[in-house]
Amino acid sequence: MREGNSVLVTGGAGFLGSHLCERLLRERRDVVCVDNFFTGTRRNVEHLLGYRNFELLRHDVTFPLYVETDQIYNLACPASPVHYQHDPVQTTKTSVHGAINMLGLAKRLRARILQASTSEVYGDPEVHPQTESYWGRVNPIGIRSCYDEGKRCAETLFFDYWRQHRLEIKVVRIFNTYGPRMHPSDGRVVSNFIVQALKGHDITIYGDGQQTRSFCYVDDLIDALVRTMATAPEFTGPVNAGNPVEFTMLALAERVLKLVGGPSKLVFKPLPEDDPKQRQPDITLARQALGWAPKVTLEDGLKETVAYFRDLLRS
Ligand code: NAD
Ligand code: UDP
Ligand code: UDP
Repeated sequence: MREGNSVLVTGGAGFLGSHLCERLLRERRDVVCVDNFFTGTRRNVEHLLGYRNFELLRHDVTFPLYVETDQIYNLACPASPVHYQHDPVQTTKTSVHGAINMLGLAKRLRARILQASTSEVYGDPEVHPQTESYWGRVNPIGIRSCYDEGKRCAETLFFDYWRQHRLEIKVVRIFNTYGPRMHPSDGRVVSNFIVQALKGHDITIYGDGQQTRSFCYVDDLIDALVRTMATAPEFTGPVNAGNPVEFTMLALAERVLKLVGGPSKLVFKPLPEDDPKQRQPDITLARQALGWAPKVTLEDGLKETVAYFRDLLRS
């Protein structure tokens, strides 16, 4: 396998991708950021454009890509339900054709490749908390399937390139992550609640608000990705990365309101189809294999995120 300094980040102008590019530049890597700007923006990486070792390439990963690199982080894919359901066929294409193209690229170059997979591969889980050995409960024909099944198929492709072509792969199953540079209107719960509270609008709770999620701050998550990429060749994952502290959506709304203040009231809206009732990562493997555990509390992470959205709304 190649051991050089250059790294390709697909989806690098998105929320997680832009933080990853930043982290890699801090480590003095040569970074090529590939993005078609579907949900990401140039603004997210504008502050990186001045770096000599940073290159931004507008490209859709569903088409082949011929560049040189030593490592690939494959993050390209809309992540919020509102965005990935906007053009579900394109979402599956991005996950599946995108994975094939990036695996083909990695195979030609003998480059190490990491897949940003998701807790959604577990669907609406019967096992709690979720361990990597759990196969999941996913509806193959529902409105979330383009994302869930696309990501599951991408995992299959990664493991087949590993078995068939001895490619060095790493699969990370990312649980709900939040922080600065989330898209303000992507409909995800943390950004929705904060933006609603800052504008003094009602906070929209879907269903009765008793469903749970576990929220990881972006810096912690990026650290898990970088650590996974640095593991020994035989470590493929899948490995869960997320914060195991679990909250109901009602509890999250109350925390956001307490931080932001203002006149917002809670209003209840219908629960979207196939919305998982509970989600919490078992991170035993990440602790053992990566020496990793999240450090940032929800309180501290929310403060940073509120400050980001406050500035964004002002400008
Ligand atoms: P995001 O929407 O902010 O970023 C995705 C990026 O991919 C965007 O910049 C978008 O423009 C780009 N993109 C989409 N389709 C593309 C295509 N065909 N070609 C090139 N670029 C394309 O989302 P995010 O939260 O940063 O998520 C990044 C990755 O992490 C995704 O693969 C997502 O599935 C995964 N993930 C994120 C979370 C989370 O909570 N944030 C949880 C689980 C998994
Ligand atoms: N590919 C790419 N860049 C490369 C090499 C391959 O985008 O540098 C794409 C190409 O579209 C190809 C896919 O990756 O179809 C899978 O490549 P692989 O070599 O596994 O299979 P094949 O070329 O036989 O289809
Ligand atoms: N949710 C909510 N209000 C909102 C947005 C989301 O109550 O304004 C709920 C949603 O139904 C889900 C949880 O918050 O139960 C997390 O939603 P998100 O879209 O952030 O992520 P995912 O469902 O993919 O975990």
